[in-house]
Amino acid sequence: MKNVTDNRNHLKTMKESAFKTLSSLNIKPTSQRIDIAEIMFCKDQHLSAEDIITILNDSDSSISRATVYNTLNLFAEKGLVRRVVIDSSKIYYDSKTTPHSHYFNIDTGEISDFEFEDVKISPLPKLPEHTVQDSVDVIVRVKNSK
Ligand SMILES: [Zn+2]
Repeated sequence: MKNVTDNRNHLKTMKESAFKTLSSLNIKPTSQRIDIAEIMFCKDQHLSAEDIITILNDSDSSISRATVYNTLNLFAEKGLVRRVVIDSSKIYYDSKTTPHSHYFNIDTGEISDFEFEDVKISPLPKLPEHTVQDSVDVIVRVKNSK
């Protein structure tokens, strides 16, 4: 019985922490947003909107696709998640927002992190007029060696 109680307490804590995080960013903490935040922020991970829809469907949730997409866009605008764009059909949301770069395995579709400091682009190309550098996204595409 103790484990059941522990799990319930853990879930309650997760919900409370999602509620606090959303409220602190002036995001209205609706139950749908809290459910999506719980899935997204339980660990460092890269999930597509479709991954989240699948997880929600498995838990019999009735959150619509549009709500999932809108919520992820809102989280990205507020800096809660970072978009990782592999190509126009493969957009992932990263719960780790500190600077880092990604490997994308084209054979398996797997995304993994590596530390940003490992990459040196020097000197950076001259920036267009009237712009400043915001960030540098690096995706190293790898494939399985034969
Ligand atoms: Zn990442």
